[in-house]
Amino acid sequence: MKTAADIRKLAKDEEIEYLRMTFSDLNGRLKNVEIPVSLLDEALSNQIKIDGSSITGFLPIQNSDMYLYPDLDTWTIYPWITTGGKTASLICDVHNSDGSPFAGDPRYVLKRLDKSLAEIGCGHLNVGAEMEYFLFKTDDAGHPTAELNDQASYFDVYPDDAGEACRRETVNTLKKMGFLIEANHHEVAPGQCEIDFRFDDAVITADRIQLLKLTTKAIAVKYGLRATFMPKPLAGMNGSGMHLNTSLFDDDHNLFDDPKAVNGLSSLATHYLAGVLAHAQAFTAITNPTINSYKRLVPGYEAPTYVAWAMANRTALVRVPDGRGPATRLELRSGDPSANPYLAIAAVLAAGLAGIKQKLTPPANVEDSIYQMSAKQRQDQEIVQLPSSLPKALVNLKNDQTLGESLGPVVAKYLQIKQAELTQFQLSVTDWEKKTYFDA
Ligand code: GLU
Ligand code: MG
Ligand code: MG
Repeated sequence: MKTAADIRKLAKDEEIEYLRMTFSDLNGRLKNVEIPVSLLDEALSNQIKIDGSSITGFLPIQNSDMYLYPDLDTWTIYPWITTGGKTASLICDVHNSDGSPFAGDPRYVLKRLDKSLAEIGCGHLNVGAEMEYFLFKTDDAGHPTAELNDQASYFDVYPDDAGEACRRETVNTLKKMGFLIEANHHEVAPGQCEIDFRFDDAVITADRIQLLKLTTKAIAVKYGLRATFMPKPLAGMNGSGMHLNTSLFDDDHNLFDDPKAVNGLSSLATHYLAGVLAHAQAFTAITNPTINSYKRLVPGYEAPTYVAWAMANRTALVRVPDGRGPATRLELRSGDPSANPYLAIAAVLAAGLAGIKQKLTPPANVEDSIYQMSAKQRQDQEIVQLPSSLPKALVNLKNDQTLGESLGPVVAKYLQIKQAELTQFQLSVTDWEKKTYFDA
């Protein structure tokens, strides 16, 4: 744990000139205010103020003062800022003006839920994320074009994989920022990449997801490219997922591992899994938060469409990948990288917690391709569908009392901002409509 004195020393030794005080809004957009290092003491004593009324999902205009409480362990230098002053960042918790934590701060929601695991003797949540994204070329003005960076596919090599140099620099930058990178490669779709980093505590991983998205975009710009974490930028191609690998740990002991049990999964793991399956139709509104998210959750593109679990079958919602002992984990395959990582992980954890508390048992695993099953086969195995649109998912979330109670007041706020987004979409006219109905 870093102290204020450690941060002062780091700032001095590293000759830091600017500090980015960083947090995330309810949509998961990273926000920051930059201060000169001369104000470091103010920052360290939680005195940096923000206007909560201008942040999506935060406070009303008449009562909008909020304060940033930096988490000192998140200290990192932004290596891509090479001119105009060395810059470091601290990820912050958002507090009300009376000093209490703000219940609508997504980072706080995740922290609170993770703590509640310890209270029932179930350790804490570890999460590993697999981040997929696309690289598009930009025009002379630096705006993204519709042209992809390459036409390569899964695990292709240079020169077909034209994203290699950009991805390498992204990975090297992330390593400097403290990431333990496990793999990076070209993904199935043209222009698509993936970067995987080592699992860690839930909040640390959510912080890193935010930093990875920021860094990936910043480095892509240097290469004349734009990186997008939009879930389905191209019709008829794979979309981008954000698979979440979760496990409960007590210190160094993986509580999901039980070598004597069927499939090597402890009863705690099976209860957690059952909770995740039971609430998947509701938490999808958070793990897949955009109208575009639901263009990805269709059969044929390695993304799940039905609620089921499996060992090797990539059409299932939850997979138990190879590897037991400390590596025992459940891989949730539905989430996408447009999600607010704090809220998405919190929602999945709330579902798992409900399964643990109610000692739920999961249905049998499904090892056949669900894409190829008839409606009758699915019905016989009680396989239900994931919501096929954002409006449907939002209704499910609204009706899920367990998730509502567990996540708190943030859910009502979330439903409200998402409803406003749907209204905006309803008022827009898409190119598809113009093409299809012009001659109606
Ligand atoms: N890109 C796929 C998706 O949309 C996932 C591919 C994979 O299994 O890594 O989820
Ligand atoms: Mg992948
Ligand atoms: Mg995966």
